[in-house]
Amino acid sequence: MSLHTAPQAQPALAAARPVERLVPGQATQDGAGVRLTRLLTQDLQRRLDPYLMLDLFGTDNPGDYIGGFPDHPHRGFETITYMLQGRMRHRDSAGHEGLLVPGSVQWMTAGRGVIHSEMPEQQDGAMEGFQLWLNLPARDKLREPWYRDIASVEIPEWQGSGVTARVIAGASHGVVGAVQRADTAALYLDLHLAPGALFEQALPGSHNAFVVTYRGALDIAGTRVPARQLAILANASGDTRVELRAGPEGARAILVAGRPLNEPIAQYGPFVMNTRQEILQAVDDFRAGRLA
Ligand code: FE
Repeated sequence: MSLHTAPQAQPALAAARPVERLVPGQATQDGAGVRLTRLLTQDLQRRLDPYLMLDLFGTDNPGDYIGGFPDHPHRGFETITYMLQGRMRHRDSAGHEGLLVPGSVQWMTAGRGVIHSEMPEQQDGAMEGFQLWLNLPARDKLREPWYRDIASVEIPEWQGSGVTARVIAGASHGVVGAVQRADTAALYLDLHLAPGALFEQALPGSHNAFVVTYRGALDIAGTRVPARQLAILANASGDTRVELRAGPEGARAILVAGRPLNEPIAQYGPFVMNTRQEILQAVDDFRAGRLA
């Protein structure tokens, strides 16, 4: 270290990434009849590598969700559940149990196998949240399972002018998030913007990135992004930034990004591996009771 600190060079203003495509998502049901909107569907897995799926639950009608997700397996990736409203109780085959409440996150690494249930519990009727699936690199797909329940107060926040960024994973403006993933440099931010507020995030242009607004509307580099749609951001060479501006009613949105793994993706339901052979093995292991 020099005794003399060089004046900090002002970084060159990188280009703002435009919206490449707006995806409305598909209304679907999963588990025991839970109605949800699947925003990241299987056909987008290559485009949004390392992310495999994004579901948005959001309903005021308990009949739409109360059946929940009874016991089901996972292998080969991570599930990240972020509750906005309502509660979700999870139990797994290793005997763990936890209750997700608004603002909290469950980050679960299925690795070689987990069998768990995810059951919504009523709280004033409403239930709203996201479940995101993040792929694991091939060498980690059969690692030991792991999970962490992250309470709302344990999620670091960055405060800007009219902006709160909750840093679930990665880092924003020097605030290091609750979870770090070296292989994929996963970034997961929940952004609360006052009317007209601007949020900027530096991001390598090669990292795939998307935004979902869940309250109000956003403007991203000249494109109006309405609520509950998936906005895929264009890639670019070099460093880029993401620039989000809230509409006149303010906005809440998640920004998700990551470095692509560029490995083959083989999926059969809740198993995501690299080859068909590995999928057959997963099904075999599950049927024989060897998965978890
Ligand atoms: Fe699950």
